[in-house]
Amino acid sequence: MEYISTRGYRKDELSFLQVVQMGLSPDGGLFVPKNIPTISLSEIDILQDLSYTDRLFSILQKFELEIENEKLYEMIEKAYSSFHYEKICPLTDISQNRFLFELFHGPTASFKDMALQLTPHFFAASQTDENQKFCLLTATSGDTGIAAIEGFRKLKNISVFIIYPKDGVSSLQKKQMQSVDAKNVTVIGVDGDFDFCQSATKKLFTDIDFLKKVSEKYNTKFAAGNSMNWGRLMPQIGYYFSAYADLLKKKEIVLGEEIEVCVPTGNFGNILGAFIAKKMGLPISKFICASNENNILTEFLKSGVYDITNKPLKKTDSPSIDILKSSNIERLLYWLSDENSEYIQKIFNDLETQQKFTVSEDILQKIKNIISADFCTEEETRETIQKYYKEKNILLDPHTAVAVCVSEKIPSGKKRIIAATAHYQKFLPAVMRAFQKDITDTSLSSLLEIIKEMKPSTPTHPDLDKTMNAKIVQTKSISKDYEALLHEVENFLQKQ
Ligand SMILES: *Cc1c(COP(=O)(O)O)cnc(C)c1O
Repeated sequence: MEYISTRGYRKDELSFLQVVQMGLSPDGGLFVPKNIPTISLSEIDILQDLSYTDRLFSILQKFELEIENEKLYEMIEKAYSSFHYEKICPLTDISQNRFLFELFHGPTASFKDMALQLTPHFFAASQTDENQKFCLLTATSGDTGIAAIEGFRKLKNISVFIIYPKDGVSSLQKKQMQSVDAKNVTVIGVDGDFDFCQSATKKLFTDIDFLKKVSEKYNTKFAAGNSMNWGRLMPQIGYYFSAYADLLKKKEIVLGEEIEVCVPTGNFGNILGAFIAKKMGLPISKFICASNENNILTEFLKSGVYDITNKPLKKTDSPSIDILKSSNIERLLYWLSDENSEYIQKIFNDLETQQKFTVSEDILQKIKNIISADFCTEEETRETIQKYYKEKNILLDPHTAVAVCVSEKIPSGKKRIIAATAHYQKFLPAVMRAFQKDITDTSLSSLLEIIKEMKPSTPTHPDLDKTMNAKIVQTKSISKDYEALLHEVENFLQKQ
C-alpha cells in the first residue's frame, strides 16, 4: 500500500514502515494511504465473537502493512497485554442510547495508550539499519508524553525527547513525566502553550539545516509520536470497529444500523480514527466534535472559517484539548476536498501566514452533513461531573465530561458512543472542584483518599497509584523560543 502527503509530496512507493519512521512529510504535510481499504458488513459481523486482539488484527490486516501476519498478531498481543482490563476498551451503558467508550485502561490512563502501546512495535519493524539512531521528538498537551515514553523507551537505538507546556498540564500528568528516570528520556517544560510546542516540533522536522547537522554529528534521525504519525493514528481506527462489534454483541443494534460517535477533541486524531472507520465501511452517521472553552473547532466546523487571529488559549480543567491548531484537520480536509493536495497546501499556507483560512462552500456542506460540533464551559463541565456521580455513581474525567455535556446538547434517537479518554485519577483537583470542595493545600494523595471514599463505579488506576508517590527527577524548563529548543535537543543528543 502506497502513502502520500496531504500536501502533494510523493516519492515512488513510500511504504507504511517508511512513513512510520518519517512521521511528518518533508513538505510539512501529513502522510495518508493512497487508498483506504474497505470492510464488508459480514466481516464486521464476525468481529462480535472475537477478542480485542483478534478484532484489531482483522482491521489492521486490511492495510497490508508489510509485516507478516504472524508477526503483526504477536505485536498486537504484546501491546495490549499491558492493559488493566481484559476487554481493553469496554462500553458502559449510561442510558438513553448512550454508551461511554472507556479508552483509559492502559498503563498511563489515557486513550493515547490505545495507540502508543502498539506504534513502537511498528517503529521497531521499520529499523533496518542497526547503526542508525533515532530521537522520538514529541510535543504533548499532557497525555501523549508519558504514553510515548512508556511505549518507546524500551526500543533499541532510540531516545525520547518530550516538551510540554509548563503550566498547561495537570499536576499528575506532570508527575508522570517528571518521574521518569532514564538516560535516554528527557522531559522539558516550556514557558508557552501547547500550540507553541507543537509548531516548534513541526518546524524542527522540516528544518533541513538542523536535520543535516544532527544526522552528521550524532548519526540521529527524528521520529514523531504524535497523531501526525500515521503509525499512531491507525490503531485508533480499529477500536471504533470494536465498539460497534460490542454493540452488536449486546444486541443494542442490528448489523448495518448507523451509530453516532462523540469525542472530546484537540488534535482531531481520535475522532479522525472514527472518520476513517466510516470510510472503510463502519456504519457511522454522525461525528460529534466536543470542545471546551477553547472552541476553535466548534467555530470552524460550523462556519468553515478557521481563524486563530487574536485567539488567546485559555487554561481549562481539560488541558489535553486546550488547542488552537488542530493538526489532523488537515487529513480530514484532504479527504473532504477529494484529495486535492494543492488546495490543502494553499489553505495551510494561509494558516501559517495569515493565521486564518476559509474552506469552500462545498466542503463546508460536506462537513455539516457528517459532523456536529459544540463546546461547553468550565461551569458546565463541573456540573456534568457532579451530575453523573450523583445520579449514576460514575466519575468522569474533565475531558470525558466535556464530551458527555456536548452530547446532551445534540440530541438524537440513534445509539451513540462517547469516548471516555482519560481516567479521572489523572485530574483529581479538577474533579474535586466539581464537588465544590475547598482543596487548596490538599495533597494529591489526600485527594485520592477522598475520592476512594466516594466509591465511584470505576476503581482507581493501579499504575497511577504508584505514580502518586514517585520521585520527581526531570525539572528542566526552557523559554518559548525555537533556538532554545534546538540547543536542548543537541545537548540531549550529545549524551546519547
Ligand atoms: C489527547 C487527548 C484528547 C484529544 O485527542 P485528539 O486526538 O488530540 O483529538 C482528549 N482527551 C484526552 C484525555 C487526551 O489525552
